[in-house]
Amino acid sequence: MTLTVLMNAGPWLSVPPPGYGGIENVVATLVPELRRLGVRVVLASVESSTLPVDEKIAVFPDGQFHALQRPYNQVCGVSQAHLSGVVRALHARDDIDLVHDHVEAVGLATLAAMGPDAPPALHTLHWDLAKHPELYGNLDGGDRVRVNGVSASQLARAPEALRAHAVGHVHLATPLAVDADRQASVAKGDHVVILGRINPGKGQDLGARLAHEAGFPLVLAGPVGPYHRPEDLAAAGDEARQNPDVRFFHDHVAPYVDGDRVRWVGTVAGRDRDDLVASARASLFPLRWEEPGGTAVVESLALGTPVVATARGCLPELVEHGRTGLLTGVEEELGDLVLAAGGLEPDECRREAARRFTPARMAQRYLELYERVRQGAAQPLQPA
Ligand code: UDP
Repeated sequence: MTLTVLMNAGPWLSVPPPGYGGIENVVATLVPELRRLGVRVVLASVESSTLPVDEKIAVFPDGQFHALQRPYNQVCGVSQAHLSGVVRALHARDDIDLVHDHVEAVGLATLAAMGPDAPPALHTLHWDLAKHPELYGNLDGGDRVRVNGVSASQLARAPEALRAHAVGHVHLATPLAVDADRQASVAKGDHVVILGRINPGKGQDLGARLAHEAGFPLVLAGPVGPYHRPEDLAAAGDEARQNPDVRFFHDHVAPYVDGDRVRWVGTVAGRDRDDLVASARASLFPLRWEEPGGTAVVESLALGTPVVATARGCLPELVEHGRTGLLTGVEEELGDLVLAAGGLEPDECRREAARRFTPARMAQRYLELYERVRQGAAQPLQPA
C-alpha cells in the first residue's frame, strides 16, 4: 500500500529555496528520494514552490521570509495561518498516513493539540533546543506525535519531556554527496569561506577578526537578517537595525569587512555557491552555539573542502579531526588551524560525504522512522 506523507515545509521560503534556506534545502533533498521509494508526497509550502510533488497545499503565494523583519505582533500570524491551512486539509481528507513537520514550535504545538483523530506525526527538530523550554519541557504528544533530531548531540541536550518523544536522529544530507567520491579535484584558491546566516551563533565576527590576525582572505556568504545583498542592506538604512542580526553585522562584523582581507558577498546560490566552497582552502565555522545539524558542513565535505570549526554541537559527529577537518575547543586556535587545513585531502572529504551524507541514506532512515512513528500510534514506543 502506498504511504502518503504530508510534508510540512512551512511558509517562510519556497522549496527549493532561492538561495539561503536550511530547512527548505532538507525538504528539497528528501522529497525526491522518498518519491523514488514509492512514497506519495503532499507538500505544505507556499504556492511558488517548484519542487515536483504529488500534490501541494499553500496558504501564501510566496515565501514570507521578508516579514521576519517586522515586529513580533505583525509577524506572529504567519506560521499560524499556514498551520491553519494544514489543519483544514487534515480535517478535510483521510488519505494522509503521516505528517512530517518542519515548522518550528508552532508545527509541534499544533500537531500535539490536534488530538487522537489526527494522523501520526513526526516533527523534525532543526533547531537549538535550548529555545522554547516551556513548550519542549511540557510537551505531550501522546503516542501519536514523535520528534527526531538532526544530530545525537542535539537530542542529548534536549529537555526530558522532548527526549521522551524522540525516535532518534537523522543526519542532514546533500545532493552534492551523490557520487562526490567520483568528482574530479577542483583547483583550490587561497580563500576561506564562512557560508551561513550572519548571526552571533555562527561567529562571523570571530572569523573576520582571525582573518586579519592570521592573514588569510575570508569570504562571508549568507544573508544578514532578511537582506540578501549588500546593496539591499545599505538601502534599508537605519530602520534595518531593528533586526538583531543587522545590529550584529553593523556593530561586530562590518568593522572587519574591508573588501580585501574580508569580504561580505551576500547570499550565494546554485553553481556560484558550489564553486565558492569547492575552491576554498577551508570552510570555517567559528561557532558560538551548539550547531544542531550543519547542512553547510556536509555540503563543504561533499565539495571536497575541509572544515575548520569550533568543536561544538554536531561538528564532532560530522567531521573527523585530522582527516576531514580540524576541530578545536579553543576559539583563538582557529586561525592556525585554517593555515594548517591545506594539509588535508579533499578526496577524503568527498569520500566521507558520499558514504554518509547522501539523500538516499537520509530518505531510508526517515522511512524507518515513519514506520516507528506509525507503530507508535497503536502501541507506545520506547524513547530512542
Ligand atoms: N546557504 C546558501 N547560500 C548562502 C548561505 C547559505 O545557499 O549564501 C545555504 C547553505 O548552503 C545551507 C543552508 O543555506 O544549505 C544553511 O543551512 P545550515 O544548516 O548550515 O544553517 P542554518 O539552518 O542554521 O541557517
